[in-house]
Amino acid sequence: MNSYVDELPMILDRVAVRSVERVSPSVIRFELGGDRLAEFGVDGPILDQRIKLIFPNAAGTLPSFDGMDDSWWTTWQQIPEDERGSIRTYTIRDAVGDGADTRLVVDIVVHEPAPGEEPSGAGNAWALGASVDDELIVLCPRKGHLFGGIEWAPGEAERLLIVGDETAAPAIRGILRDLPADARGAVFLETVTPADRYDDMPAPEGVSVTWLPRAGGHRGAELAPTVLAHLAQDRAEAALPEVSDDEIDPDLWETPIYSSSGEEVAAATTAPTDEGPFAGLYAWIAGESKVVTGLRRTLVKDLGLDRSQVAFMGYWREGVAMRS
Ligand SMILES: Cc1cc2nc3c(=O)[nH]c(=O)nc-3n(C[C@H](O)[C@H](O)[C@H](O)COP(=O)(O)OP(=O)(O)OC[C@H]3O[C@@H](n4cnc5c(N)ncnc54)[C@H](O)[C@@H]3O)c2cc1C
Repeated sequence: MNSYVDELPMILDRVAVRSVERVSPSVIRFELGGDRLAEFGVDGPILDQRIKLIFPNAAGTLPSFDGMDDSWWTTWQQIPEDERGSIRTYTIRDAVGDGADTRLVVDIVVHEPAPGEEPSGAGNAWALGASVDDELIVLCPRKGHLFGGIEWAPGEAERLLIVGDETAAPAIRGILRDLPADARGAVFLETVTPADRYDDMPAPEGVSVTWLPRAGGHRGAELAPTVLAHLAQDRAEAALPEVSDDEIDPDLWETPIYSSSGEEVAAATTAPTDEGPFAGLYAWIAGESKVVTGLRRTLVKDLGLDRSQVAFMGYWREGVAMRS
């Protein structure tokens, strides 16, 4: 019998872990499969396509979406929080296989608990304990239906700047994989340790990739000045401003077409300026919200990068549990 979920313009269904591998100190790679993924499809390259995963509640139970119609979100939100499971956002690193054997590959960044403590975060805790056949729910694009969730939109830009931390590494890899061969630009990617660097980073020849392991240092401490030095060059002394914790929007999302702070969004398409230090540039910047906020303030407010040339995305916030 068809449930209403079959009628939804996306896939919202149980999937099972087909394989799990600790690929580096901070990254666990999952292949997630399920019959319904035969209908998975993105209209174009996958790029930085985001998806949602719903992890089981503390008792290990997943919610059921059977019988829900397109008001599933509201219905699900009405289930008590400790029963409905936890929803988090991730990126499709790759989609492999086909038909009923289609699998979504997802890299989950993990952080181990201090000795004697429980792991924090529903996604982190699940990933640290998951094994083959464990189930969770995926919300992802369905062939032939609009889903959204791709932010990469360089328009006519002639040079690219891509900046991120370890949580943005799968998205950055996806963007690089799908760039045209003649793309030009630079990538700066902060990881937790040197060993978290991906072995396979399929960048076009004209795009340099710089890995910046924190190796115990502060988030953004190396990344932000390196990006500013790259952009400002003769203004390499440009320092990152102090950003206080109460100024941070954990859900920071400022792209050419959307503003979480309610700023005016001028144009629906990216139109890089053709003069000045940022001529022809499109920038995509994602990671911990405080680091991204500091970069945004410097690039837009101090150095004058036009907001139509850049997407700033808070992928997570230190000390805050993401709820959707
Ligand atoms: C568009 C988008 C794409 C994303 N893609 C990916 C992806 O492919 N892989 C991935 O791993 N993450 C990705 N993220 C980030 C991920 O959604 C967050 O890290 C999320 O907070 C993880 O949920 P959690 O349940 O583990 O922790 P939460 O319950 O949200 O938080 C619990 C605690 O863990 C801390 N925490 C959360 N994430 C981290 C981290 N990475 N390092 C250290 N502490 C952390 C929080 O600050 C908080 O104190 C993406 C986010 C967005 C918005």
